Amino acid sequence: MKKTKILLSEKELPRQWYNIQADMPNKPLPPLHPVTREPIGPDALSAVFPMELIKQEVSQERYIDIPDEVVDLYKMYRPSPMYRAHNLEKALGTKSRIYYKYEGGNYSGSHKANTAIAQAYYNKMEGIKRITTETGAGQWGSAMSFACNHFGLDLLVFMVRVSYDHKPGRKVMMNAYNAKVVPSPSTMTESGRKILEQDPDSPGSLGIAISEAMEIAMQDPYTKYSLGSVLNHVILHQTVIGQEALLQMEKAGDYPDVVIGCFGGGSNFSGIAFPFLREKLLNGKDIRLVTVEPASCPKLTKGKFMYDFGDSAGMTPLLPMYTLGHNFIPEKIHAGGLRYHGAGVLVSQLLKDGFIEAKAKLQRECFEAGVLFARTEGILPAPESNYAIAAALDEARKSDLAGESRVILFNLSGHGHMDISAYEKYFEGYLPDHEMTTEEVEAAIEAIELPN
Ligand SMILES: *Cc1c(COP(=O)(O)O)cnc(C)c1O
Repeated sequence: MKKTKILLSEKELPRQWYNIQADMPNKPLPPLHPVTREPIGPDALSAVFPMELIKQEVSQERYIDIPDEVVDLYKMYRPSPMYRAHNLEKALGTKSRIYYKYEGGNYSGSHKANTAIAQAYYNKMEGIKRITTETGAGQWGSAMSFACNHFGLDLLVFMVRVSYDHKPGRKVMMNAYNAKVVPSPSTMTESGRKILEQDPDSPGSLGIAISEAMEIAMQDPYTKYSLGSVLNHVILHQTVIGQEALLQMEKAGDYPDVVIGCFGGGSNFSGIAFPFLREKLLNGKDIRLVTVEPASCPKLTKGKFMYDFGDSAGMTPLLPMYTLGHNFIPEKIHAGGLRYHGAGVLVSQLLKDGFIEAKAKLQRECFEAGVLFARTEGILPAPESNYAIAAALDEARKSDLAGESRVILFNLSGHGHMDISAYEKYFEGYLPDHEMTTEEVEAAIEAIELPN
């Protein structure tokens, strides 16, 4: 019998997160103080993050227990389902077997709930009253809004201006979960005002919104800042996805040749891929791990591996990562969650060492893939997830051309129910393709100004 849906029982929900730092052949380089260029210790982060998350950020332990309170909330929507995409396979006429793990079936509509719940919990445990954060497309802000409200924390969200204007629904959703939402750049902060002086019509960027949120957090000991991607502890929390996926593939009696995730800062890709990478590093399992970014924001495929800031104003430590420059403002493509100038430190090191692959794609091809997916599998994907789907189709077509059959697994990081206007533009033919050229990337990197 054809099995389409692969489910786990509540008892199979992972009780630990997996920390890839324990198994990386080359450990990531340390974060540096922007002025002294000396490695900074965990204490330097304590103005903005609670201690438990800082410990996770630098931990070398392979497994970290998931607190019971977090497990309880995970149980609202986890274990998440995995599907074999039979109808999509049929439409493609492929010999390959395509599976996807669906992370859109929770209150936030994306994988971001997995870390939002954990981060809100640890802040609550350390007596924090308020959290500030940024959001691009709004998925992260929605994820955090519910989690903070659940644990009795106030939340202030800086939402990238272009998304704030294009996606009013997300703002209302965050308000419904009791969060305050401000378009960024805003006049509330020094960093926002500086940008607005230069460009009153600035579309904003995740880098700018991060600066604003951090600035507010630094002014009050009971306010901390929270980031939805990029950082090691965020990626750690997302490994519930891959650990479940390992069990589900086993239940399906299959094993992926390739695992694919779209790429904003690295959290959903790492979440599904790192547990499989563990099997490769520790048990010699052969597998390819592929991440897909927009051609208009190509930090992994065209950016430079160097020390750079994680935000536009330069408030974070200097981090070793692939970057387009912390002041770079990406084109307004609709996959707002992928408009970030840099890549997480763990993914950057692993890409540099050749353990993962990176691809870039134009948005129209990705929407086309997403619409085919919707018509065959019945889920309208988030624009971000469309990048993973398009890459999965590539893998299937490539192996058919070679007369082979592959097992392909991708992460369907979210649904697109709040992104209807982007689909509308696509159907009306108004969705532009944009690719950043090598010259533009060089100019962006050239423009990086670091303190000396
Ligand atoms: C935020 C988001 C992404 C991109 O962020 P990562 O940290 O790279 O995963 C991808 N898909 C969806 C649905 C998102 O909300």
